[in-house]
Amino acid sequence: MTVDQRLTAAREYLGYARQVKVADLPELALQRMAAELRRQLGQVLALLGEASEVLASALADAADYREQRATKPCATCEATASDICPDHEADFDLSDSYLALAAELGIEVQR
Ligand SMILES: [Zn+2]
Repeated sequence: MTVDQRLTAAREYLGYARQVKVADLPELALQRMAAELRRQLGQVLALLGEASEVLASALADAADYREQRATKPCATCEATASDICPDHEADFDLSDSYLALAAELGIEVQR
């Protein structure tokens, strides 16, 4: 089952579970529903964990790439009084914004 299929299945089951009147269900049906909700939640949490790891790696790579670009001065950098041209300054800003996004998302980035 693909990630998209798992998320769709979880959304559909949650939609169904929200519409069910719990008081009308026999105990066995409630136990089955609780088990299915736990199973679906476990799958979604696992997917979030995997996505978080990939995102952390991608943001670290992007931040490193921009930082490396920014620290290699070009002719325009050397011709400016501040020793950094707008393009290279933008690279620093992008690197910072990638790390800030990771922090906002609570994702630990290894660098
Ligand atoms: Zn430059």
